[in-house]
Amino acid sequence: MRTHLRLGRLLGVPIGLNWGVLVVCVLLAFSLAVISLPSIAPGHPTSAYWFAAVLGVLGFLVSLVGHELGHSFVADRNDVNVVEITLWLFGGVAKLEGDADNAGAEFRIAAAGPAMSFVMAGLFWLGFLVVRAVDGSDVLTSLLVWLALINVVLAVSNLLPAFPLDGGRMLRATLWRRGGRKGSATRVASLWGQLLAGALVVGALVSLRWWSWWSALWISLLGVFLLVAARGEWRRSAARPELMECRVGTIGRALPAPLRPNVPVAELEATLAAHPRAPLVPVVDEHGHVASLVLPDAILRVPPNQRGVVPIASLVEPMWSLPRVHPDESVREVVERLGPGRDWRAVITDGTELQGVLCSEDVDHVLELATP
Ligand SMILES: [Zn+2]
Repeated sequence: MRTHLRLGRLLGVPIGLNWGVLVVCVLLAFSLAVISLPSIAPGHPTSAYWFAAVLGVLGFLVSLVGHELGHSFVADRNDVNVVEITLWLFGGVAKLEGDADNAGAEFRIAAAGPAMSFVMAGLFWLGFLVVRAVDGSDVLTSLLVWLALINVVLAVSNLLPAFPLDGGRMLRATLWRRGGRKGSATRVASLWGQLLAGALVVGALVSLRWWSWWSALWISLLGVFLLVAARGEWRRSAARPELMECRVGTIGRALPAPLRPNVPVAELEATLAAHPRAPLVPVVDEHGHVASLVLPDAILRVPPNQRGVVPIASLVEPMWSLPRVHPDESVREVVERLGPGRDWRAVITDGTELQGVLCSEDVDHVLELATP
């Protein structure tokens, strides 16, 4: 069985509804129509309360979608693809294709949801002022106040510095920018997530006496869900020292087919455009042996209008000017020999043939996962 229902597309993003939300909607409509509205605005027919409750539930769903659209709008502007927005028990989730690749974008994407909720709270409040001014029904004004409050609650609770909530993502982005390492930032932010989730559960149980059992149950459930999510992220961000023993042959980059030294620089440009991750292009000599290479930066030494005629022979460097690594060497061995954090390219070879190129940034990435 599918876990959720497709509602359609909004601004190009598919919107889905988890079945659990339907249960929440029914409970919400019931509590609005039978408990909240009759006590705030008494003296109306039951049908009026139910009609307002349905409007309230729709407004609640619009508030959740609005919050997530805030995230996806900013994600889209930061070149992060939005796969889908799903509404579930406690709110919405904008499923993004991967994380933002820099701390600033992560911060902006995370902050956009709560910002949108505050804007919607303002709009519902404005609606309340307008309806009150034209002497509208007190059922409708109470409903608009309730929707404004719901949006404030949505914004504030998502701003808790508990990863993976929005506030936790903002905290991670801040730590990431300061320390430069996403792995350790995730670890700290998800630890805070677990602590805050635990505090929510304990707080809800302790305050059971003063609050309604309904709010306490709701908050402790929220705490348990947050605890599970934060714990998962914390585990995923754990150090993986065994990665230091992985063979560099498995993290090297493949190279495009070798070029001949007499081809024009324009052909080198076309080759690099087709292989954007290639750190260099091998060049064969007159016997067909790969003995030299050309680096992407070398293209800049030739003016654009001469690249169609100047051969790449003028730009090549000997292959063995680069350090060599054996494909069976481990990351640890290579780091000890060539050093971390320095910008280098090494030829991966078993002594007979060229198997690829190892880039220092790929080694640094493994180091980050191994020792966050
Ligand atoms: Zn959010």
